[in-house]
Amino acid sequence: MTAPTSITRIRAYRVELPLREGRYAWSGGNAVDVFDSTVVAVDTANGLTGWGEICPLGPAYLPAYAAGARAGLAELAPHLLGLDACAVGLVNDAMDRAMRGHPYVKSAVDMACWDVLGRASALPVATLMGGHHGPSVALYRAISQATPAQMAASVKRYRREGYRKFQLKVGGDPDVDIDRIRACAKVLERGDVLVADANTGWTQHAALRVAAAIADIDVYLEQPCPSYEECLVVRRHTNRPVVLDEVIDGLDMVVRAAHDGAADVINLKISKVGGLTKARQIRDLCVSLGIALTIEDTWGGDIVTAAIAHLAHSTPPRFLFSTTDFNSYVTVSLADGAPQRDRGHMQASIAPGLGVRPKMKVLGTPVLDVRD
Ligand code: MG
Repeated sequence: MTAPTSITRIRAYRVELPLREGRYAWSGGNAVDVFDSTVVAVDTANGLTGWGEICPLGPAYLPAYAAGARAGLAELAPHLLGLDACAVGLVNDAMDRAMRGHPYVKSAVDMACWDVLGRASALPVATLMGGHHGPSVALYRAISQATPAQMAASVKRYRREGYRKFQLKVGGDPDVDIDRIRACAKVLERGDVLVADANTGWTQHAALRVAAAIADIDVYLEQPCPSYEECLVVRRHTNRPVVLDEVIDGLDMVVRAAHDGAADVINLKISKVGGLTKARQIRDLCVSLGIALTIEDTWGGDIVTAAIAHLAHSTPPRFLFSTTDFNSYVTVSLADGAPQRDRGHMQASIAPGLGVRPKMKVLGTPVLDVRD
């Protein structure tokens, strides 16, 4: 029996997303000027279309890159034709059997299937994931790496726009990073949240120096070093709360970190773990374990931002440490109906599915088109 929502066609589009600030810089001299995003459309037999998006943070952040997402989709798509898009567990199982690893390739397909499921059931994805908690979710702003004074000025500017949570891109020279953290902490007010994200940029000894030097500041330390083991050493020597991000690439690492008491907060990026299905599984486990979450993705435009909003808004607020609105960082809008920032907050749509309506003129001609 063929399901009415069986997959008949999978398309991919390439969209460039220039940054409003011109450039986004983080540890190791890495920077991106224009993001290369891939939008995926999943069509079903009964005429529904679900939408997903994958946008790696350049090729040097995680084992993921934009052209790799599209090459992987070309490999994966023929295996998915005929599957019921609403059966997200079966789709994930099929993707994992057809391709080992490469979670970011699978993320946009999984996202699009959740969009189909929502459209088919006339329910928003946030409802399917547990329901909207409260009226909105509070956003953090990533502060691109620059001089201490420039970063403090950025914090001040975004604070005026309504943000109260700031994630500083450090992970450079430890002495300059200490100055960056001190300069930014000075411009904050009671109740603001400050995170220093080294993005794996420090050696273990440098991280221990920075942690000791800022021990009097109310700041979280995120992913100080490349390996889990180095981060664990830093964690055991600092009195600051620790966020783990890059090393948390699946449920097994969450279990390990929970067992070791390695993190107070886990940064959950949808594409890092393979899509909304697996991200929700990790979200629910973290909530049960009492571990808070930053819920986001590697980057993206309107569709990624909508998916983040549905997962974040359906997370109990005391465990939602922060989330973010990537569509406000870029100059191109690729869909209507996505969340729009309002005084440092956003809300997940109450329309069916992800609630997005892609702008076909912005998407252009598909770079991949697989049909039965
Ligand atoms: Mg991070």
